[in-house]
Amino acid sequence: MNDCIFCKIVKGDAASWTVYEDESVKAFLDINPVNIGHTLIIPKKHYKDLFDTPKEELMHMMKAAKKVSYALKKALRVTSLNLYLASGEDAGQEIHHIHLHIIPRFPGDNIKIHYRPKPELRQKFDEIQLKIRSMINL
Ligand code: AMP
Ligand code: ZN
Repeated sequence: MNDCIFCKIVKGDAASWTVYEDESVKAFLDINPVNIGHTLIIPKKHYKDLFDTPKEELMHMMKAAKKVSYALKKALRVTSLNLYLASGEDAGQEIHHIHLHIIPRFPGDNIKIHYRPKPELRQKFDEIQLKIRSMINL
């Protein structure tokens, strides 16, 4: 993927503040951090989104997230974290190379992650449960 900024970072053609890497993943500071230590974890190979990414690669990403989380805890006295992954444009994915955000949280940091619940959707639970369950592993 020639025009992908994260592929450029992997190749060393664009700058990054790397905090961890191994043969399959790279973790680097988000250029627009919402808090100190905001880190992105990416597979080194280009995969677009959650559908495109093999489960082994997702496991590597999650293992790296655990490693980086401990480092953040020790290095920055991080007390809490949000993990965030946007898959697809409607979910807010802006860079189309899958990435997992690790967002350190501190007491009173006032970051708002907005979800507006739609309790009326409970009416559809029976139908939706059946639909989803019938497609698991297909
Ligand atoms: P998303 O909305 O989940 O696709 O988030 C993309 C994230 O990538 C944003 O938080 C950006 O700040 C971050 N980002 C974009 N370009 C770079 C870059 N060159 N280095 C580090 N982070 C970047
Ligand atoms: Zn890429």
